[in-house]
Amino acid sequence: MGKKNFIYNRISRKIASEERSKAQREAERMRQEFTANVSHELKTPLQSISGYAELLKSGMVRQEDVQQFAERIYSESQRMITLVNDILELSHLDEGMEDIVREDVDLYEIAKDAVASLEEEAAGAGVSLEITGEPSIINGYSRLLSLIIYNLCENGIKYNNPRGSVKVDINDFADRSVLTVNDNGIGIPIDQQERVFERFYRVDKSHSKEVGGTGLGLSIVKHATAIHNGEIHLVSAPKYGTTITITFRKGDKA
Ligand code: ADP
Repeated sequence: MGKKNFIYNRISRKIASEERSKAQREAERMRQEFTANVSHELKTPLQSISGYAELLKSGMVRQEDVQQFAERIYSESQRMITLVNDILELSHLDEGMEDIVREDVDLYEIAKDAVASLEEEAAGAGVSLEITGEPSIINGYSRLLSLIIYNLCENGIKYNNPRGSVKVDINDFADRSVLTVNDNGIGIPIDQQERVFERFYRVDKSHSKEVGGTGLGLSIVKHATAIHNGEIHLVSAPKYGTTITITFRKGDKA
């Protein structure tokens, strides 16, 4: 090896290792931020559960208010369960899903099941939920694909108005499958459209809490889509609604 080549190789190795350690530092920073957020998000419902329980324990609550206190304890603990499930889901995704199998699946069938499981929630919110499209086979993780569609539809229902609608559509092309979830709900302001995919980011924290949100749904969607080498496209306008399109390339075996 010539001297020039030797020096060149050493320099490029040094740059590569610097880039690696930069990426490692960034990953470390994100992990720390995530841990701090998780602790904060878990502490809030836990504090109110503890507060209500303490009042009940002290015997200071009037008999007619006991039911209401019990309901608050119940709903806050349900919130914690949802949150812990979402956190576990994300950490499972972070680990790379090595324990589950990838197979050829029909995106339309998966979407139909996800829609069916949300019918009651949609009816409760006075929102219509429908699916159109055609069979489309891709190679992927059926549970994750179902999670993607479920989360997107649930958001379409939660961030909507009574008599609103959520439409799911599956389109099949020779080289790709396209999932579209469209709603005519409250929409997302343009300056926050990138941020909604961040962990724990919510446009309106109190509204999200009211409708049972954790701020993790879209980050799970983003992560699960990346595992499938898919691409997400979001179009939204406040008061008009939101359309999220995900394209899955066929023949992609990540
Ligand atoms: P959450 O559990 O709060 O619903 P997500 O990660 O699923 O969390 O979404 C992040 C935020 O993006 C939500 O809190 C909400 O403000 C906004 N958002 C997501 N989907 C929609 C939608 N279809 N219409 C309007 N706002 C949405």
